[in-house]
Amino acid sequence: MALKLRRRLRCSFCKKTETEVAKLLGGPGVAICDSCVGICNKILEAVPSSFAGWDSMADAQLLQSLKPSQGAVEGMRNVLQQQVETLRKRGVSWADIGAALGISRQAAWERFS
Ligand SMILES: [Zn+2]
Repeated sequence: MALKLRRRLRCSFCKKTETEVAKLLGGPGVAICDSCVGICNKILEAVPSSFAGWDSMADAQLLQSLKPSQGAVEGMRNVLQQQVETLRKRGVSWADIGAALGISRQAAWERFS
């Protein structure tokens, strides 16, 4: 228990530790830092609230939205990878992980190991 308490919290998205970021917000099993929240806000700003489809956005607007979107995708990929690694450390099989994701044991292993 003491070990667990001493373990540093990390942003689930960018992997920075609590000492490397200004603020770290925790949720159940995940955490997000202030700069990743900023990226999320940029994505929300880039998408008009009454969303009329990507076709309604100018090239410059769409180009501006690429990097924040890519950051979000990479962040969620990190979360998924961490979840799988945690399950593997507990001895959960690739077959069970694959089944939960709707892919084969082989595909799960190739994607996450
Ligand atoms: Zn972060």
